[in-house]
Amino acid sequence: MGARILDGTAVAAAIRDELKPRIAALAAALGRPPGLGIVLAGHDPASEIYVRNKLKKAGEIGLRAELIRVPADGRAEDVLAVVAALNARADVDGVLVQSPLPAGMGADAETRVIDAIDPGKDVDGFSAVNVGRLVQNRPGLAACTPTGVIEILERSGVPIAGARAVVIGRSDIVGKPMALMLLHRHATVTICHSRTRDLAAMARTADILVAAIGRPAFVTADFVKPGAVVVDVGTTQVSDPALVEAWFPDGSPRRAAFAKNGSLVVGDVHPDVAGVAGALTPVPGGVGPLTIALLLANTVRAAETHLAGRSGTRPGLE
Ligand code: NAP
Repeated sequence: MGARILDGTAVAAAIRDELKPRIAALAAALGRPPGLGIVLAGHDPASEIYVRNKLKKAGEIGLRAELIRVPADGRAEDVLAVVAALNARADVDGVLVQSPLPAGMGADAETRVIDAIDPGKDVDGFSAVNVGRLVQNRPGLAACTPTGVIEILERSGVPIAGARAVVIGRSDIVGKPMALMLLHRHATVTICHSRTRDLAAMARTADILVAAIGRPAFVTADFVKPGAVVVDVGTTQVSDPALVEAWFPDGSPRRAAFAKNGSLVVGDVHPDVAGVAGALTPVPGGVGPLTIALLLANTVRAAETHLAGRSGTRPGLE
């Protein structure tokens, strides 16, 4: 029997629906919709698509999202100036700077920019203050992708407490916060990475296996304990027909999509895993839609916290 497919598109739609009355209440109390400022430096094609999606999804549920562009040949100081202006604006509750920044801005530009965002408006949850709060399991704004993974696991009835969880990948934006969130929900967590010995055997211990690597179809069936829940965070654009033919059978919808578009977004998890896993998030339609839904949720949360701070009923996040 094939794995149960965990539908990220449906969970994301449910999360967005739940946000709508909160947004309406905020708009009434604040006299304006919650505001999200998105900073895009340069014209990276993937970033253009991500930002367009974020603006569209925000607008659809009644947030006021605004795009501020910085030229590709701008300096890190130009981005910092935009961030400072957004931090200071009372009508902006959330601020995010789309990654990656143009290479010409310098190797430390991303860190400098993240450090400059007001932690109370840091809707990506990447700032040291919010990461520190996550480490200590205190309220804060946490990274959207791993929060989305927790949402789909919990809403799908996957038991986390007591489970063995293996996270492959240790990035600041996915792997590390993912491991912490699972730990805080009482999983026994192992973090694996490129230096992990006998990775497949380690992964096979998992009741919950999260792949956040960025290598298409890397996690094969021998990585997966029968019945395990597998979460595929990876998204890699593949344009080599030989790879697509090797992974997806003739006549499959994925082959058809490749034939139509000339490329395909492929996850870290090999299609054969569907024959071993108990449940699986697909790519596309799994973690991707959740990431944007959780960005919107963080923006609403930031606005609610600002409102509570303003009215003195609750301290702000900052
Ligand atoms: P990243 O910063 O490149 O980190 C990749 C991690 O994978 C690193 O920790 C690396 O280990 C590990 N790794 C690489 N090769 C490995 C191997 N052969 N064996 C074991 N571990 C290996 O990537 P990221 O930003 O975390 O993103 C990971 C993937 O998720 C990417 O495909 C990205 O596009 C995708 N993503 C998707 C969403 C979404 O919304 N769907 C959001 C964010 C990211 P080392 O640390 O040892 O180098």
